[in-house]
Amino acid sequence: MGEQPSFEGPNADKSDKSSSRVVSGRKPAGRKPGASRPAVKDPMANTSARKTSVIKTSASKTSAGKKAAVKQTPEKPAAAEKAVMKKAVMKKAAAKKAAAKKAVTTRAAATKKAAVGKTSAGAEAPAAEKAAGTKKAAATKKAVATTAPAAAKKTATKAAAAKDTAAKKTAAKKTAAKKTATKTAAKKAPAARKPESRVAMVRRARRINRELAELYPYAHPELDFTNPFELLVATVLSAQTTDLRVNQTTPRLFAVCPTPEDMAAMAPERLEELIRPTGFFRAKTRSLLGLSAALRDRFGGEVPGRLEDLVTLPGVGRKTANVVLGNAFGVPGITVDTHFGRLARRFGWTTQEDADKVEADVAAIFPKSEWTMLSHRVVFHGRRVCHSRKPACGACPIAPLCPAYGEGETDPEKAKKLLKYELGGQPGQRLKPPADYPGQPAPPMAAP
Ligand code: SF4
Repeated sequence: MGEQPSFEGPNADKSDKSSSRVVSGRKPAGRKPGASRPAVKDPMANTSARKTSVIKTSASKTSAGKKAAVKQTPEKPAAAEKAVMKKAVMKKAAAKKAAAKKAVTTRAAATKKAAVGKTSAGAEAPAAEKAAGTKKAAATKKAVATTAPAAAKKTATKAAAAKDTAAKKTAAKKTAAKKTATKTAAKKAPAARKPESRVAMVRRARRINRELAELYPYAHPELDFTNPFELLVATVLSAQTTDLRVNQTTPRLFAVCPTPEDMAAMAPERLEELIRPTGFFRAKTRSLLGLSAALRDRFGGEVPGRLEDLVTLPGVGRKTANVVLGNAFGVPGITVDTHFGRLARRFGWTTQEDADKVEADVAAIFPKSEWTMLSHRVVFHGRRVCHSRKPACGACPIAPLCPAYGEGETDPEKAKKLLKYELGGQPGQRLKPPADYPGQPAPPMAAP
């Protein structure tokens, strides 16, 4: 170890100044070998020397302390190593964190860049699509423009083919409709296909009667009357006219001459005047005066209840006799008037034109108990549906049983318009119909 610098006090500086003056005034004397090095008297050098000496002393102290510590704790070198290891670990962790941060920042930057790229690409995509769309549209326009004539030709051919197919279909439909119509007609008119046996005709005829009974359960004579004499007179007047006209005429007539005696006593001109609305009033006047006198003279003023007697009266035939017998006396009878004869022929019950022969043919088909009501039902149907000129076949409930189906209108809607009286929504013929009649009563005759 060298010499330790000595710390000097302020008094020592004054002495140094004086001594320096002295030194500066003479040449430095040569140092003797082995003599100690004189202390530097420069203050600055002195302070720096002091500082360096302090540093040296402190360093020496610290190194000495360390050495001393090392020397003092020779048994604890692991702690120092641990500290060093810790520092190394800390450094590594810090380095890792820094590396992680850098990686995160680089990733974020990369994602940002990618996003920017995507957005830029997305912004460019619609434009590209639009461009592609416009290109496509232009291409299609060009294609249409170039292929337009061909397409027109194709459509024309297609339209022609469609027309042909439609025409074929309609023709097929028409043929099918014709076939079905013929089939239905054949079904409705089985007798037209092959000759009908007598038994089959009778069965069909009786079935028609049942069908008509269901259709007209209220069937009745359509002449207003209150006794056999009024019915007899009304039936005579009904020739060549309608029951409605008779019903509108008889109230005034029966009010003037209610009995055979009263009528027989009337002047012909007066009677003609009363029955004029029914037509053929002169001939009818002769008949009424003659039968009234006969009733008065031969039958005591009463109407006989036998056919044989009735047909002896002036102007009374089988038809009138049957009407009176059937409706005033409850004696079964078939009334063959113009309606009954026409329908009996259309039904195939008879081929006769004479009323008596028609009556005979029909009487052979039906039991006697059905005669009167059968007459009313057939006449009802003839007046409402099966008209002489325009039968409403399309609206006829018994068309499947009728061989004459098709003689009239077969269109249902058109046929429906041909229905009359209660079926056509019109008033009936009687001014005083039975209580069960579903239609409206006939109006009285209008004043002249
Ligand atoms: S309307 Fe026609 S289907 Fe009916 S009974 Fe008369 S003809 Fe026959």
